[in-house]
Amino acid sequence: MGVEEKLPSGIVLTSVEKVVNWSRKSSLWPATFGLACCAIEMMATGAGRYDLARFGMEVFRASPRQADLMIVAGRVSQKMAPVVRQIYDQMPEPKWVIAMGVCASSGGMFNNYAIVQGVDHIVPVDIYLPGCPPRPEMLMDAILKLHDKISEEPLGSNAKRREAHDYRPRQLVASSERYSKDGKKAARAASEA
Ligand code: SF4
Repeated sequence: MGVEEKLPSGIVLTSVEKVVNWSRKSSLWPATFGLACCAIEMMATGAGRYDLARFGMEVFRASPRQADLMIVAGRVSQKMAPVVRQIYDQMPEPKWVIAMGVCASSGGMFNNYAIVQGVDHIVPVDIYLPGCPPRPEMLMDAILKLHDKISEEPLGSNAKRREAHDYRPRQLVASSERYSKDGKKAARAASEA
């Protein structure tokens, strides 16, 4: 069964916004770095058992100039903060950030002078992922939510129009719900309403 069976007439009508967002979300390349124990779970997510290749993102890039996703996996020390910011600055636009684990999201249990109390003090964060450490399934759920967010990104004149109307993206739901039978029905009903 191939795409030609779904499109017997061979014609697809869509918008540039949808194609651009679809290609962006389907080829996220994370920057290669890990800060603490959460990074072990991140590495497990990229390995054979969990297989990030399904989402076109198994290639963790060694150079930030080839990456568009920063997964901050672990606590950020004051000493490391300028380095993390430098990596972020070297990544080309558009780029996204996942704060993986409580330490990256809020400092977690390290409420002290040595640790930055949340990586959002240094870089803008798109998705906060709780847990200590979050399991690979949780990281994949965060990645799927980020895909959702990217799919909804307004571009060009749409961006200006939606900004003017105080546009808010639709609420993100857990992927376990979203991709269940009932979840699909509910999503369809919401889009038709
Ligand atoms: S959230 Fe837990 S596992 Fe992750 S870096 Fe902090 S202490 Fe380590």
